[in-house]
Amino acid sequence: MKYSKQGDKSYKLTVNPHIKNPVCPLCKIPGSNVFFSDRHRDYFQCRTCCLIFVPPDQFLSADDEKAEYDLHENIPGDPAYRRFLNRLFTPIQERIQANSRGLDFGSGPGPTLSLMFEESGYLMEIYDKFYAKNSQALEKQYDFITATEVVEHLHNPEKTLARLWGCLKTSGWFGIMTKLAIGKKAFAQWHYKNDLTHVCFFSRRTFAWLAGRWQADLVLLDKDVILFNKPKITDIL
Ligand SMILES: [Zn+2]
Repeated sequence: MKYSKQGDKSYKLTVNPHIKNPVCPLCKIPGSNVFFSDRHRDYFQCRTCCLIFVPPDQFLSADDEKAEYDLHENIPGDPAYRRFLNRLFTPIQERIQANSRGLDFGSGPGPTLSLMFEESGYLMEIYDKFYAKNSQALEKQYDFITATEVVEHLHNPEKTLARLWGCLKTSGWFGIMTKLAIGKKAFAQWHYKNDLTHVCFFSRRTFAWLAGRWQADLVLLDKDVILFNKPKITDIL
């Protein structure tokens, strides 16, 4: 199925009969089932890691994707936005040392979480595919990495998450915020899937699978805050 833009926020669908069993973009293991379809897209679910994903030929173009992000009004001084980010800021801050170095990945058009850490004395870098394409930031090592409302946008989550995990020092913390998918019935009513820039939907089971791959400790806080703690080599042996 493909859609083409027909004026503002309207898409016309054409069915692509070749999409039957797309390879999971997270674990890369073949074997996925159609999970759900709506008038815009198909959603598959991986039988191994349980990721729910949209096949690549149904992604928005880069221009249309950026146009959607340009509409996001994330103002660094907005108290409500800071309260939202505090739900990740606080648990990360409780777990890191003073003077830790951090990376906010996917910092968006109005970087705010990185400012909150800087205001508390931490050294921060930011990276964003559209707004801060600073590749050098992905060559460094960090004590903590954050990604708020980012992983649901990843076109190649296996590659991107592996890259970020490689930038994290041992004993470091990786904090994610994303809404968690639950059952099929709830998915049908879920507003989160209606944002056409959202192409990956994680669940508790998917994050548990990822923690197993990384041999990391997983902490699930609240309904959409996920922390991974990178083990020391001696913890693994
Ligand atoms: Zn998978």
